[in-house]
Amino acid sequence: MTLPRNDGLTPDDMSAEVLSADVVIVGAGSAGCVLAEKLSREPGRHVVLLERGPGRWPGPEARDLRRLPIDDHAPYAVRHATDLDGLTAARGSAIGGSSVVNGGYFLRWHPEDFADWPEGWDLDAVEAAYSELDGGGDGDGGTMGVSPVPDDELGDAGTSFERYWSARAAVRPLDDRWPVTGVNRVLGNRSGMERRTAAQAYLEPALDRPNLRVVADCEVRRLEVSGGRRVTGVRTDRATFRAGEVILAGGTLGTAQLLLASDLEPLGGAAFLDAGEHRGLAVSYRRKGPAEPGMVLPSVVHTVDGLEIRCYRDDFAAYIDGLPYSGPMVEVTAMDLSPVRLVADGERVRLVFGEPSAEVTAAMRAGADRVVEMLHSTELAGIVVPGSVSVAAVPGFSQHTWGTMPMGVRTDALGAVHGTEGLRIVDGSILPTGGHSGPHATVMMVAVHIGNRLSDEG
Ligand SMILES: Cc1cc2nc3c(=O)[nH]c(=O)nc-3n(C[C@H](O)[C@H](O)[C@H](O)COP(=O)(O)OP(=O)(O)OC[C@H]3O[C@@H](n4cnc5c(N)ncnc54)[C@H](O)[C@@H]3O)c2cc1C
Repeated sequence: MTLPRNDGLTPDDMSAEVLSADVVIVGAGSAGCVLAEKLSREPGRHVVLLERGPGRWPGPEARDLRRLPIDDHAPYAVRHATDLDGLTAARGSAIGGSSVVNGGYFLRWHPEDFADWPEGWDLDAVEAAYSELDGGGDGDGGTMGVSPVPDDELGDAGTSFERYWSARAAVRPLDDRWPVTGVNRVLGNRSGMERRTAAQAYLEPALDRPNLRVVADCEVRRLEVSGGRRVTGVRTDRATFRAGEVILAGGTLGTAQLLLASDLEPLGGAAFLDAGEHRGLAVSYRRKGPAEPGMVLPSVVHTVDGLEIRCYRDDFAAYIDGLPYSGPMVEVTAMDLSPVRLVADGERVRLVFGEPSAEVTAAMRAGADRVVEMLHSTELAGIVVPGSVSVAAVPGFSQHTWGTMPMGVRTDALGAVHGTEGLRIVDGSILPTGGHSGPHATVMMVAVHIGNRLSDEG
């Protein structure tokens, strides 16, 4: 599918209508697609959505849940350097952003994760926005087509993992949407074995609106700022766009890049922004036989001490082209914030990791011991090669960086950036806390809530 009015624009094609808009949204990712749809419901509001990724609709092969298309040559991803040996951070660069390339796990955070969110984010508002996306248990899967991984897709490792933990912890009923401390069968945003992307759910139905313009292959380089505080538009490689309001939805890394590249007084010439990440210890093993192909992460356990124990189906080498074999793994991830600094470094911010705290490190080590015990249990005996289990010396990280510009601290409760005019951020950057689960459902929930509020204000 192509983007009817929007594909392949060149500077010469760009009419004055395209060059100015009421709202310019930067980034057609998980949050940006939601906002573009909601803000363009009002026919009198002229919305331009700018995306650096290609002006093609990612096809079924790119959306296959049995692959993670983030290898060095992937058409819909970019990579950021990190200071961890041999590791880079990938991000979607596509119509649909990271929802095109991610694992397809779509779990809500736990209700208590919202206790410290700013005013306006009471649990009823959070529940309503999540329910739009995941169907809220009514069985229809919501806009994102959310459903639990079925029993027959769990795979032998996932089945044994759930059998082991369900004898020791609570289990979330399959159709419930709120996760529990205990066993959580993964909920996926999917249509059969394909990821359902934010672009399919939100942008596609709005593409024919005359007041919405999508311009792909168009990287924004900096904000246009007047007097250090008033944002008047954005500069791209191809043109300058004037806007009544600019909404940054470039993802935590893409938005940080733009904030650091622009002369915004409230940031005081900063060369870096601090963020949160999820660090995880891999417990690897060898399998006795091959794994059935399927979704990368079918089941997780959430523990009282803030860990997410992730039972990956197979070696990541089975999902990512060019990755060397390192064995399938169960990852013990600390869902408490671990620090990461996003440092200006040419075209893409670089990630510089701090040490996880002593508590986080101790919790990961204790969790890894429990996983080693599990891998040696009778439940896993048919899968794990004896003597093959090993715990990584150094924690890796999830692709989850969030919280550079937290709501209630650096923005208001709807993402308007304190100390500026005409600038809002709606993406992973504004999550004010971490949560017990991965971020995708929650980033989209934030965009749904803010998009609805802004569109009501009309
Ligand atoms: C490989 C991978 C696997 C993941 N798996 C999961 C998972 O299974 N479950 C989960 O909960 N979370 C997962 N995540 C995280 C989750 O996908 C993200 O947190 C979420 O998609 C972030 O949404 P966003 O809107 O903030 O950014 P994105 O969806 O990344 O969107 C940002 C968009 O902005 C564009 N952009 C950036 N800068 C510019 C610019 N200067 N000009 C123009 N366009 C720009 C980008 O190309 C991109 O399309 C994963 C992430 C990755 C990378």
